[in-house]
Parts: sequence; structure tokens; C-alpha cells
Amino acid sequence: MKYIIVTGGVLSGLGKGITAASIGRMLKNREYKVTVIKIDPYINIDAGTMNPFQHGEVYVLKDGGEADLDLGHYERFLNVELTSDHNITTGKVYLSVIQQERRGGFLGKTVQIIPHITDEIKREIREVAEKSGSDICIVEIGGTVGDIEGMPFLEAIRQMRREEKKENLILVHVTLIPINNIGEQKTKPTQHSVKELKSLGLQPDVIIGRCRDSLSEETKSKISLFCDVPETAVISNYDAKDIYLVPEMLEREELGEYIVEKLKLDGRKVDTRWYRRIKAYNERNKDSIKIALVGKYGLEDAYLSVKEALKHACIREDYNHKIEMRWVEAEDLEESTNLDDYLKEMHGILVPGGFGVRGTKGKIDAIRYARERDIPFLGICLGFQLSVIEFARDVLKINAQSREFEAFNSPAVEDQTAQKSSICVIDLLPEQREIKDLGGTMRLGDQEIDIEKNSLAYELYKRDKIRERHRHRYEVNPDYIEVFEENGVKFSGKDGERMEILEIPSNRFFIATQFHPEFRSSLDEPAPAFLGFVRAMIDFKKDQEREIK
Ligand code: GLN
Repeated sequence: MKYIIVTGGVLSGLGKGITAASIGRMLKNREYKVTVIKIDPYINIDAGTMNPFQHGEVYVLKDGGEADLDLGHYERFLNVELTSDHNITTGKVYLSVIQQERRGGFLGKTVQIIPHITDEIKREIREVAEKSGSDICIVEIGGTVGDIEGMPFLEAIRQMRREEKKENLILVHVTLIPINNIGEQKTKPTQHSVKELKSLGLQPDVIIGRCRDSLSEETKSKISLFCDVPETAVISNYDAKDIYLVPEMLEREELGEYIVEKLKLDGRKVDTRWYRRIKAYNERNKDSIKIALVGKYGLEDAYLSVKEALKHACIREDYNHKIEMRWVEAEDLEESTNLDDYLKEMHGILVPGGFGVRGTKGKIDAIRYARERDIPFLGICLGFQLSVIEFARDVLKINAQSREFEAFNSPAVEDQTAQKSSICVIDLLPEQREIKDLGGTMRLGDQEIDIEKNSLAYELYKRDKIRERHRHRYEVNPDYIEVFEENGVKFSGKDGERMEILEIPSNRFFIATQFHPEFRSSLDEPAPAFLGFVRAMIDFKKDQEREIK
């Protein structure tokens, strides 16, 4: 097994995850089998309970693991499916060591960070790497060098480096090169962070400088001199207008060849198709489709996978359009008297997943706008549930609600009588309704779904059984399915008694899914639901243009 360890210096949020994923892609394009491990030095066991406002999206893996959004970058760049073992946190490592201790696994010894915690870290890394059957395992260490939380992990890497053959483990350090107000690239922060690494016994093999611009020859030679790496191993990673352009940028810096040499891999030919596709997309300049994403959290990172999935779909050669996103804050819609201000020129409307009652009225307004004006619509998870509620309220004339919002809201709701008379068309399944503590009861990860033959969903997936990822607690209430179906809604995807896909066949493209299609999308294989949605937006745009003529 070959290991590439990626650490970061100076600042977090430098794009270390993208850099690591890009290194993986370069190697994949040489036909090596690559896997990735993300180490998050926080104490949480996983990202399941973390606030997307602080951390960006919670990414869901096929086994139901809830992880940091970097895992999403890896899956998307490499077109692999990872499991929660690929996300190692301090919490997981300590939990495992403490459980061993309780079982008497340490035979009365004092349990210590070195060697017990570091041994466990090494064991987990090696086990996951071997189990994946890959040639190369990239290990990204979250945070920056010098953080207290990261210390045991860096110590474990130091030990691994002694234990592994020289050509089996290399260290890549990603750091910031700021530019001062007279336009000079400054290397001092990099020098300091490499010094810090060295003081922990780690000498980097490659230094990747994140900078607004390409690193100058002078900057490179300075870093080379002060940090003891050859000049050819100082690599520019300047701001790219598209993250998928980064692998090719690193390729041009000859990082791929350098790594191949360092790890003594057999030199293989580079398949450049992936690079060419993304380049061609970025060179498209005339036509674009406009899409409104109606969400909350005021943070684009909270919907990262949705944004990426839209792009994957749009990159298809024959689509020939670019995506133009408008981020609409659901609460702004609630306050607005004229939805046209936000939604009028849109070729598509998307309501993504979410939790809690805040902003739901605005999202329902947006769904109604799309349904009534026959604008292509995609609803995901909460967006699916709200589509059910919208239809129930407006077409079935039911005072519809979701159990989730009642629970959130009950004492504070102004109109208590209205609340009492509301009907939960979105509810817990009957057997769950008595559960008092809902912690840990979410339905997570891959589930199988049966697709009905005569449906839009079947047109998109071209299969009668699909597998998609989930992260939700509430379901369409089985008592109301019939009345929906009698009134123009089709539930074209089901998993037993659970409704998974809703469509309105009389609309040009109105589909909503209880699952999250965005988590299984990559540039290599865009998600069918997104491919169909983007196609529908392009067709809608063309229709409109024809009408104007
Ligand atoms: N809050 C909803 C539920 O728990 C939807 C979840 C989501 O959108 N991810 O069922």
C-alpha cells in the first residue's frame, strides 16, 4: 500500500480537501485504484449532530455514515463510494480504545496517548486502506498543523513513516501564500508552518502553495531553500474558477509525475478525457439556464452536493449550457408580496433538504409557484415533503402539516386552534409515533426503491429498482396516499409502505424525492434525477424563446 498524507498549514479552509481529491484524480487518471481517508480531529463521533451553519453540509455515505463534506469531494472527484470507516475522528478513536480498556484489553497497563491512541490510529488507517483493495490511500488530516487536537494523528503519521518503506509514504503539505499590499507573494507563514511540522518530526516531500495567483519562480525557490524540498516539489495551486479545474492545474505543475516517481509507481499513461470535459464546460460562454435554489442557513456550503450535482448534469457535452444559480433565502420569500421578484425569470426551481419549521412557508410558496406556472421543479427530502403538503393544502383543501413542525412549534404557535385541527400528511410511521426520544432514529444511507414502469422516474432511471441515499425521519402518511393519487399525484417510487418519489404527470417536469440523489452524483456519472431536471430546464428555456419570437 502506498500512502499520501496531506496536512495543512497557516489557515483552515484553504481547499485542502479539494487538493487531496485532485491528487487522487490525477492518479486515477493513470488507472491506479485510489481510496481516501479523512481524519477529523474533533471529539464528535461523526458529523451527524453538527450544525450545517458551522460546518457546511452533512454528507451522507452509503452505509448511513454522516460525514464531513470533504468525503463528498472525494466521492465526486474519484467516483468511488466510501463508508464511515473512511472518516476517522478523535471521538471514534478514543471510543474504541476506551471500550478495549473496559474489556480488559490492556491487561492492567496504563492506557496512554502514545502508544495506545497512536496505535489505534495507525491500525484504523491501515485496515481501511487494505480493505479497500486500492493501490494508493490518501489520508487528509483536518485542521492545521499545530492544533492541539491534531497532535496524536501527526504523531501516528510520524511513526508510520518510520515503519513503512521510504517509497511507500509521502507527505504533502498544503499552505497559504498571502499577497501583501504591494503585490508580493509572502512565504513566511509557510516557513513557520513547515518549521512546526519539522518540530513534530515530519519533513514534507511536497509543498503546495495556495495563492491567488500562480507562484513566482522566486517564491518557489525561497520555499525550496527554507523548507528543504526540491524546487520541482513546490507546487502552485492558485484560485481556480472551478474546483474541477484543479487536477489539471496540478498536472501542469507536474505534480502527478513527481508523486509517481517518489512512490516508485510504474509510470502509466495519463487519460486526459476528464480534464478535457471540464475545460470544455468552462469554455462554454453563450447560453445559460437560471435556477433558483430556495433554502435557508444563508450558506451555500450547506447545499454543496446539490450545487455539484447540478453542475455534473450540466457538463454533459450535448447540453451546451451553463448553470446560473440564484440562492433564494426562504424567509425572504415569506416576507415578499411579489414572488416574481425572486422567481420570475427562472428556468427551474429546486427546494432541497432541511430541518425545522423555519422558512417552510417560503419554500411552500416557491413550490406552488413552480406547480402553477409549470416551471421545471425538483424537490429533495424536505422539499419532497413540502411538495406533498403544498398539494394537500391547495388542491385537496386539507389543513396539512408535518409532524416535525408541530413538535418544533407547538407552544409558540400563534393560532393554536388551527394547529390542533391540522392533519399530518407527513408523519412518523405508525409504529414510531409513541417514541419519546427521537435521537438516533433517522433513516440513513442507501435504501432500495421500486420504480413504477409508466412514470417520469422510470424514464430518468431506466430501471425498476434503484438504490439511493437517505437522511430523514418523517414519511408520507399512508392514510392519505389514495386521495393524493386520485387527484393527480403519482407516487412513482416506493420502498414498501414508504413513498419515495412524487410526480405530477400533468406538469412538464415536476418531481420530488424523499431520498437525496445529489449524494450519488459525480462528474463521471451524474445523477439521473439531475440530468432530467437540467434537460427539462433547457427545453423550457427553448420553449420560452420560441414563444417570444
Ligand atoms: N426534516 C425532514 C425529516 O426529518 C427532512 C429531512 C431532510 O430534508 N434531510 O424527515
